[in-house]
Amino acid sequence: MKTTMQTETVTCGGCGAPLSIPDNVEYVACRFCQAQLHVQRNQSVVFTEVLQSLQKQTERLADNTDVLRLQNEIAMLDREWDQKSSELMIRGKHGRVSVPDKTSAVVGGIFLTLFGLFWTVMAGAMFPPMALFGILFIIFGVISCVKVHTNAERFETLQATHQHQRNELLNRLRQAEPRD
Ligand SMILES: [Zn+2]
Repeated sequence: MKTTMQTETVTCGGCGAPLSIPDNVEYVACRFCQAQLHVQRNQSVVFTEVLQSLQKQTERLADNTDVLRLQNEIAMLDREWDQKSSELMIRGKHGRVSVPDKTSAVVGGIFLTLFGLFWTVMAGAMFPPMALFGILFIIFGVISCVKVHTNAERFETLQATHQHQRNELLNRLRQAEPRD
């Protein structure tokens, strides 16, 4: 519809939204659906023709939805990984966090056990009741070795699973991403 002002209202051929455009333009992009429109004028009617095929627009929109969904899935997977892995992390002094690994589990366990043995032998020779602490050290050494070792194993499994799932999502994301 032409108005007396220098703008006119046309209907987007892509999404049907009413667009207010200057009455001298021939090409315009819909601000709702981004369709490239060719404004056609003849004596009585003004209408728009979508230059880019609607089909392609819909495909692109679907692509974007896939991309967004995959990006969200990756973010969720990473959050899940952060949470699960931090449960298995070893918290040292000064808030230092380290990944549990099997070697340090065994080395730490052996160290504590040897210290316990040494203590037990020494205390046994000098003041037998103190030998009890040595035995506690041995028990503590074995338990912590098993615990860290188990955590290290779970950590490795989780990490492998996470990497695998993440790579799969990344591949799908690469395929879903628009090529242009
Ligand atoms: Zn539109």
